[in-house]
Amino acid sequence: MAVLGSLKTFKGGHYFGLFEGTPRGQRLKVAPLPHRVIIPLRQGFSAEVAPIVQEGDRVKAGQVIGRNQPDPKKPSTPVHASISGRVTKIERRSHPLGGETLCVIIESDGKDEWEMLHRPANYEKLSPEEIGKILYEAGVTSGGQAGFPTIYHSAFATPDKIRYLIINAIETEPFCEATDQLMYEEFDKFVNGIKILRQALGNVQVHIGLGYNRPRIYEELIERLEYYDWCTIHQLRPKYPQGDDAVLIRTLLGVLLPQRGYATDVGCVVQDVQQCVAAYEAVVEGKPFVERVVSVAGSAVKEPGNYRVRVGTPIGHLLESNLKCTGRIVMGSVLHGQAQGDLDAPITKEIPAVIALREAERELFPIAGLGFDRDSFTGVYLSVPWVRSKRATTSLNGNPRPCVRCGYCIDVCPQNLVPALLGEYSANGLLSEAQELDLFACIECGLCAYVCPSKIPLLEQIREGKRKILQESA
Ligand code: SF4
Ligand code: SF4
Repeated sequence: MAVLGSLKTFKGGHYFGLFEGTPRGQRLKVAPLPHRVIIPLRQGFSAEVAPIVQEGDRVKAGQVIGRNQPDPKKPSTPVHASISGRVTKIERRSHPLGGETLCVIIESDGKDEWEMLHRPANYEKLSPEEIGKILYEAGVTSGGQAGFPTIYHSAFATPDKIRYLIINAIETEPFCEATDQLMYEEFDKFVNGIKILRQALGNVQVHIGLGYNRPRIYEELIERLEYYDWCTIHQLRPKYPQGDDAVLIRTLLGVLLPQRGYATDVGCVVQDVQQCVAAYEAVVEGKPFVERVVSVAGSAVKEPGNYRVRVGTPIGHLLESNLKCTGRIVMGSVLHGQAQGDLDAPITKEIPAVIALREAERELFPIAGLGFDRDSFTGVYLSVPWVRSKRATTSLNGNPRPCVRCGYCIDVCPQNLVPALLGEYSANGLLSEAQELDLFACIECGLCAYVCPSKIPLLEQIREGKRKILQESA
């Protein structure tokens, strides 16, 4: 095993401090079983699957309720019930990450009966195809917002084109603490999950990207993996958005992803901690992926915590009686996630956090938030140096103002873009000019909008520009 001790990083990015309402270091708790789950039949960017149950059917946790024929051109995995009970409705609903999808609604019978997968005797003897089949049947997908089926990560390239398995073990999103905690508490499953995923890819080289602020995990990884020459551990600076696939591959291997390309285009497959644990549970324990870890966090939350939550649990079930004031709820990420007004919106496999931010009641400083570092410029976050954690509210501190050409958005952009111009061109319909400035190289991390002192919604403008171009080309 190689250990690359020099602290690797990338140009741009931002170190976030500790925000009020972050469940740092809190042990994983099991969220109470919900009375009802709403399970979308589309996961992340996967294709929607067809239901194979009907209203009135009884189901067990882990039972397949929707599937398509396997098709690498329209990747999907089977979708499973996450509690036992009765299917009460199958209807179209909003997907928590945008758009509409068919959902299966199950009322709990309170028994929590399970239907597990068949378990092989010894996973080390399984072929890549056999492991792939189990991961597919267990519905293992990435734990990030792409929600991509794990086994289809390699389907864009023939397996002999994949040279590296990259393990994303660095969390730099504000408020998201649950996956780090999962790595601490399920360390065995995490390490064995890496071995299983490597075996599924034909025993490729593994690069693990870990924040240098996780010394205990670093020591344990060295102890467990030191005799394996296929593994390299990289210590990274915990700067946002180091966990993004494009930024991680560039930092670890010095390779650039093509615009609108995939990690597989450069011979890599990137998997996260939740995926490693889910792969282990599927292959060794026969457990379908129906439960994930979620941080419930934010300045409006009474008791922030890290929870194991069944897929399909309505966010209202997690937040009920845990809000101390009116909050704006964001699913996934405060920088680029979706605001959510519907407390029935379900937790899906792609959602690592539910964040409730205190609504600001008045604007003390209408031009810029009080503070002494760049966090304060947006006015979304108020930085107060003499308290340890920063305060997060939804204060807008006025409407967007003209660009003052301060260049902060350029400084932080991890992709070396000029966000001010990308936003301006996209907003004014100058789409070919925006494309000339590499609009599609934007990874939508949201940092430019976060630091902009003029409150310009750069991320929204850039997303809209991309959407229009894709629409025109379609
Ligand atoms: S332009 Fe895109 S990649 Fe650059 S900071 Fe803004 S959102 Fe992030
Ligand atoms: S951060 Fe905002 S004000 Fe400054 S250059 Fe960028 S868009 Fe203009």
